Amino acid sequence: MSAAGLAAQPVADMHLHYKWTQQDLTSPQDALDGLDQNHIVMGVVIGTPAELALQLQSLAPDRVVAMFGPYREGGDWQRWAYDAETVSRTRAALESGHYHGIGELHVIGGFAPKFAKATVLQQLLGLGAEFDVPVMIHTEFSRADFMLSVCREYPDTRIVWAHSGAILEAAAVDKVLAECANVWGGLGARDPWRFVNNPLTGQGGELLPEWQALLMKYPGRFMVGSDPVWPVDQLDRWDEGDSGWQELPRFWGFHRGWLARLPADTARQIGCENAVALFKMADKVSCK
Ligand SMILES: [Zn+2]
Repeated sequence: MSAAGLAAQPVADMHLHYKWTQQDLTSPQDALDGLDQNHIVMGVVIGTPAELALQLQSLAPDRVVAMFGPYREGGDWQRWAYDAETVSRTRAALESGHYHGIGELHVIGGFAPKFAKATVLQQLLGLGAEFDVPVMIHTEFSRADFMLSVCREYPDTRIVWAHSGAILEAAAVDKVLAECANVWGGLGARDPWRFVNNPLTGQGGELLPEWQALLMKYPGRFMVGSDPVWPVDQLDRWDEGDSGWQELPRFWGFHRGWLARLPADTARQIGCENAVALFKMADKVSCK
């Protein structure tokens, strides 16, 4: 595909954040302009606080999907699982009809053992099934066991696995996808700037063989996102502005590069159609 054709290919971004630290640099209209400029026909937006995603969604309801992110302030990404209010707030948000997903929820190794009885997470997964909305979970473990236990226990919940296992090897990701038909892998932030030690691609921008094989094995199960959080040195920064939206061309330029090397149908599925279908936007959004 030519460079021009490649850059204009419609894509869906399944992993956008709109944080209060981004508002100064990026107004809601600026964000929508960014989608336009990058030919992003649909965007899934996680607000911090959650209501910020609604600012984008209300401007472009046919294009923006707001998820309910329970984080309100710095450090909540470590605290949400221990706060019973997370569940009642999430239920109220879904009942409002304004939110079409739950997450992103961080489950990071180190404090993992406490999740053996992860009642807050379990209740959120139950809400995902009850309201029929995807639940996005970011796991960061050296083994696939946690996600396997979650996806087995909640087969009726559609789970978006943010960053597709993050630091896991392709073989471990394969294990989860093979066993749990209710898991979709997101490739947000899986670029050379954020996942430096866990690359998807080689020096020339081509998918590594094991990832290429995995994507081709499950062409209906992967989606791409930018995860516009920038700069990278401090992912949970609350004191300085975050210029993630200004980096959309960088992130999507990278993803378009490897997408273009896949068969066109597969590239359209992974780059656009899978996310549009998962978030039930097919009647509003075209990937062609
Ligand atoms: Zn994440």
